[in-house]
Amino acid sequence: MEKLKIGIFDLTDCEGCELQILNLKGKLLKLAEIADIPVWRLAKTPTEFGPYDLALIEGTPMSKDDIKLAKKIREKSKKVIALGACAHLGGIPAALDEKKRDKFLREIYGWNYKSSSVAAKPLTAYIHVDYFIHGCPIDLDEAEKVIVDILMDKNPAGPSKSVCLECKERENPCLFLKNEPCQGPITEGGCKAVCPSNGLRCWGCQGLVKDANVGAMEKNLKKMGYENQVENIMGAFTKQDESKE
Ligand code: SF4
Ligand code: SF4
Ligand code: SF4
Repeated sequence: MEKLKIGIFDLTDCEGCELQILNLKGKLLKLAEIADIPVWRLAKTPTEFGPYDLALIEGTPMSKDDIKLAKKIREKSKKVIALGACAHLGGIPAALDEKKRDKFLREIYGWNYKSSSVAAKPLTAYIHVDYFIHGCPIDLDEAEKVIVDILMDKNPAGPSKSVCLECKERENPCLFLKNEPCQGPITEGGCKAVCPSNGLRCWGCQGLVKDANVGAMEKNLKKMGYENQVENIMGAFTKQDESKE
């Protein structure tokens, strides 16, 4: 039987999600029994450029080269997965206040620096994406489920449930009781509520849960005394996921 072809690509990113894929370890070796991975810059020298049965794209398209590469991958791939919050939402780069971009660039690189980067947007701003693996970084169980389901020709989309539900399942004390502005109520679960389970607030890296009441969260933050930090708190990831608002 001819092996499937999978390409793993990165645009502008920290490579954390690809490292998570490497952490699949033995399962990755199992995958190698049925699929070839001819392109994966992090792990090997590329041996060919498509076509692919499946392409996983990590990172935010932030340059003309990134956008060109994303379009080329799309043309050559039957199915495309956005890997992690950078590809899904725009991620950490999209949290930047665009009005301040020039100021930051000058402060970091000096007055003569000419940037060729563009504003950070999700991958869907440039190409059609078939599936998403959420998170910053991705959750390994979700990654495994999505990849296996797609390879078995099944739709990997599960029911939408919030981080709060997973948090309650773990009997964590709610951070709201400590006046912590946790984004769990409006955030898609799947990460096993890893942040609140470790005493940290959820910043919403999985994107918005279906029917998220973003307006109510904004009002709550203001009531809690965070009126000057709403943009900062929700801008990290929540405000990037405009598709579900
Ligand atoms: S989603 Fe997070 S971990 Fe993944 S590449 Fe982007 S910044 Fe890194
Ligand atoms: S700590 Fe956060 S995720 Fe957990 S129940 Fe409270 S609001 Fe929801
Ligand atoms: S708890 Fe929130 S910020 Fe933490 S991994 Fe889950 S979705 Fe992301």
